[in-house]
Amino acid sequence: MTPTNGTFSEFLKSFEETLRLVFHEKEDINQLSLERGLPSSVMSEIMSKVPLSVAIPKQHGGRGSLVEECLGILAAASYESLSLSLTFGINIALFLEPISKYANEAVKNDIFDRFLKKQNMGGLMITEPDYGSDALNMKTSFRETGNGYKVQGTKHWQGLTGWADYWLIASRKELDSGELGRDIDFFICDTSQEKQKIVVEELYDNAGLYMIPYGLNTVDIEVPANYKLEPETTGIKMMLDILHRSRMQFPGMGMGFIKRMLDEAIVHCKNRIVGTGNLLSMDQVQFQLSRIQSAYTICSAMCARSSKISGIDHNLAGEGLEANSMKAVVTDLMQESAHILVQLSGANGYKISHVGGRGIMDSRPFQIFEGSNEMLYSQIAEMVTRLMRKQKQLNLLEFLKDFKPTSEASQYFTNEFSFSISNTISQRKLVDLGKILGRIVSLGYVLELQEKGFRKDLVDNCIDTVKLEVATLIGSFHFDNNVQVIEDYTENSSWLKFV
Ligand SMILES: Cc1cc2nc3c(=O)[nH]c(=O)nc-3n(C[C@H](O)[C@H](O)[C@H](O)COP(=O)(O)OP(=O)(O)OC[C@H]3O[C@@H](n4cnc5c(N)ncnc54)[C@H](O)[C@@H]3O)c2cc1C
Repeated sequence: MTPTNGTFSEFLKSFEETLRLVFHEKEDINQLSLERGLPSSVMSEIMSKVPLSVAIPKQHGGRGSLVEECLGILAAASYESLSLSLTFGINIALFLEPISKYANEAVKNDIFDRFLKKQNMGGLMITEPDYGSDALNMKTSFRETGNGYKVQGTKHWQGLTGWADYWLIASRKELDSGELGRDIDFFICDTSQEKQKIVVEELYDNAGLYMIPYGLNTVDIEVPANYKLEPETTGIKMMLDILHRSRMQFPGMGMGFIKRMLDEAIVHCKNRIVGTGNLLSMDQVQFQLSRIQSAYTICSAMCARSSKISGIDHNLAGEGLEANSMKAVVTDLMQESAHILVQLSGANGYKISHVGGRGIMDSRPFQIFEGSNEMLYSQIAEMVTRLMRKQKQLNLLEFLKDFKPTSEASQYFTNEFSFSISNTISQRKLVDLGKILGRIVSLGYVLELQEKGFRKDLVDNCIDTVKLEVATLIGSFHFDNNVQVIEDYTENSSWLKFV
């Protein structure tokens, strides 16, 4: 079977079978995960199934860039290894989809061909040592040469550092004045070309995701003119479209990971006898497991929603509310699920060779990269409060009832949300509010999934779990707190002086 013929369920089944074979029979993923990287024979066997064909258009020999297929592959991979899933996530959302949508037609065939036939990989370079969250102020620059562009700068923390065959590199135009333009442009870099080598200055000792190399890169390359991505309007809007689509694919990586945490936790709690019964018979354990199960339900609903709205034919530049909600909420749920599994597993969970133990460190940076969650939550709150002010509707419940992304779910919070939003909200309260809104938007997806026939008992449990979490967050939002750090706190604060 070539990657493009056959149904997706056949394709997925064969991919899952390969993962089972390489990670559980030929090799042991728990042992492989102790080392950095992945033996090339293992990677090569996985890539022989051409999993990335899901993100390549049909006319270029791929399976057609359908979101549900991309998420299906990400989920299958993350059930076994979050690192492997992120490796695919980087290739799909940060390279192949942007190429499909924005690259010059003349360069696409060769790139896609190398992904389909030569197991090539690609990543995205945005972050610089001095500009992470503040990416718009990046210093990597480009200027036109006779027949193309010269791109120069320093980037760091790129997933697949030293490994990717291709990069997309973000940079700003060097103006005649010597200053840098405000827009951001992206250039393809083919590291197999003489003038397009990226120099890896240092490899980082990333604390998790051992399979993926990260590091510090010097960019000093010359590329042909048609290696510049072609935005529909501005480069910044193109970047937002790319990043929002990527954020909407996080649920694919979350899906398999959360399901694995749930499956492992249930099996463990069934079998582990403490005192007179198994862990499953304890009320607190039931509470913890129900939280992972609620995460499973939310993540499933996000995948369904993302499949509907995040294809490359949609422009997502203006869809920050949904993209930020999906990314921030699902990554919080991934981290929480790993923590619960480790806690329930007791001491044995605290090992890198334990899927929960490494799950904590593997899922942790998902809350940091592609927009730190605090930043995304405050953006969510800003988007909503801006609309409220524009509509002169300051009562949260009244607004959310009429706002499409929250209208269905807000009916579960009639008492809690009946308050007015003030004109000035501190940043810490914006983050609380964004967390609340992100969860209401996510619950809306769950209700949408229920309408399509998803299990009602899972949905009912999920509603109760989200209600509890939102109640806690509302408590935090209303609590008057403006505590500031005391920087010279060591003066007169050593406990030894007071004994
Ligand atoms: C595992 C991993 C993989 C990555 N992969 C890539 C990649 O493939 N390509 C790439 O280009 N980059 C990648 N990055 C870089 C990543 O996108 C940046 O680390 C991220 O954007 C944060 O930038 P920074 O590290 O400079 O932190 P800073 O910008 O210094 O922010 C530090 C912290 O300050 C707080 N903060 C900052 N701004 C705000 C705000 N507005 N509101 C509230 N709090 C705020 C947050 O807590 C934030 O985490 C990766 C990073 C990691 C850890």
